[in-house]
Amino acid sequence: VKQAKASGRPEVYEPKEASLARRRFSIETELRRALETDQLSMSYQPLVNLKTGEVSGFEALARWQHPDRGEISPTEFIPVAEESGLILHLGRWAMDKATMTLAGWDAEAGQKLPVNVAVNLSAIQVARDDITAMVGGALRNSGLTGDRLMLELTESAIVQDPRRATRVFDALKALEARVAMDDFGTGYSSLAYLQRLPIDVLKIDRSFVSGMMIDPDSVAIVRAVLSLAEALGMSTTAEGVESRELATTLAALGCVSGQGFFFAKPLTEDDALPFWRSRLRSNRQAA
Ligand code: C2E
Ligand code: MG
Ligand code: MG
Ligand code: MG
Repeated sequence: VKQAKASGRPEVYEPKEASLARRRFSIETELRRALETDQLSMSYQPLVNLKTGEVSGFEALARWQHPDRGEISPTEFIPVAEESGLILHLGRWAMDKATMTLAGWDAEAGQKLPVNVAVNLSAIQVARDDITAMVGGALRNSGLTGDRLMLELTESAIVQDPRRATRVFDALKALEARVAMDDFGTGYSSLAYLQRLPIDVLKIDRSFVSGMMIDPDSVAIVRAVLSLAEALGMSTTAEGVESRELATTLAALGCVSGQGFFFAKPLTEDDALPFWRSRLRSNRQAA
C-alpha cells in the first residue's frame, strides 16, 4: 500500500522504479562483499527499566558504513538480505558478534553483568532447520548462558508456519534464551499464538508509542497491550521512547522497560559498558 502511494506520480513512475531496482541490485552485490570483508558493524541500544532507570539489556542493531554511499540503513539492507538469502550469513554474523561482545563486556567488567543482549531474527532464519544449532553454537563459542540472550522475532516468523514456529520457539527456550515479539501490533498474527507460544516479552511498536502524546487511540492501544501482557505473564518494552514525558507516562501505565532516543541512541561497542555504569551511578545519586 505504502509503495503504491509513493509511486502514485505517473510521470516519474518508470524511471524511479528502474533506478530503485538498480540500487537494490547493487546493494545486494555490495552487501555480499561487505559481509566477506567485514564492513558491517554492530551498535547496541540500551533498554532501560522504567521504574529503576537501570539498563537491563542492549539490542544489537546492524550498521553498514558503505565506502562510497555512506551509511546505509538496515531498513534498506535487511529486506535485500532477506530476498537474496544473504540474511542467513548476516544473521549468523549478528548472533556471533552480539554474543562475543557481551562476553567481552563481562570480561572487561570482571563480573557477569546483569544485562542481556537482544538479537533480531528474520522469519527466514526461523524457517531453517539449523536455527537452534546456530544459536546454540554462538552461546557455546561465547561462553554465555542462554539466559543472557533475548531473541527478537516479528509476527511474520509465526504467520507463515505456526506449527513450525512452535517447535522452533520451544527449542530456543530449551537453550534458556528468551523470546520477544518485536514491533508488536503491526503484523498479522492472531492472539491465539500469544497464548500458545512461549513468548517472554512484547515489544510495543514505535508507531503506537510515538502517537501517545497526540492521539488518545494510541494510548488506548498501549494500555490494552500492557494489560494483555500482564494477564499472560509477559514482560513489556516500549520502542521509540523519545521524551521524558513518554517515559514517565509509560512507567505510570505499568510498562516494564523502554528503549528510545530519550535514553540513548544505538551506541558503539565501546560506549555501551560506560553507559551501563553511568546509569548505575545516576541511580545511586538519585536515591
Ligand atoms: P527493530 O528491531 O524494531 O529495531 C528498532 C529500531 O528503532 C532501530 O532502527 C532503532 O535505531 C530505532 N529506534 C530506537 N529508538 C528510537 C527512537 O526513539 N526513535 C526512532 N525514530 N527510532 C528509534 P534501525 O537500527 O534502523 O533498525 C531497523 C530495523 O532493521 C530493526 O527494527 C530490525 O528489524 C532490522 N535489523 C537491524 N539489525 C538487524 C539484524 O542484525 N538482523 C535482523 N534480522 N534485522 C535487523
Ligand atoms: Mg528489534
Ligand atoms: Mg522493533
Ligand atoms: Mg521496528
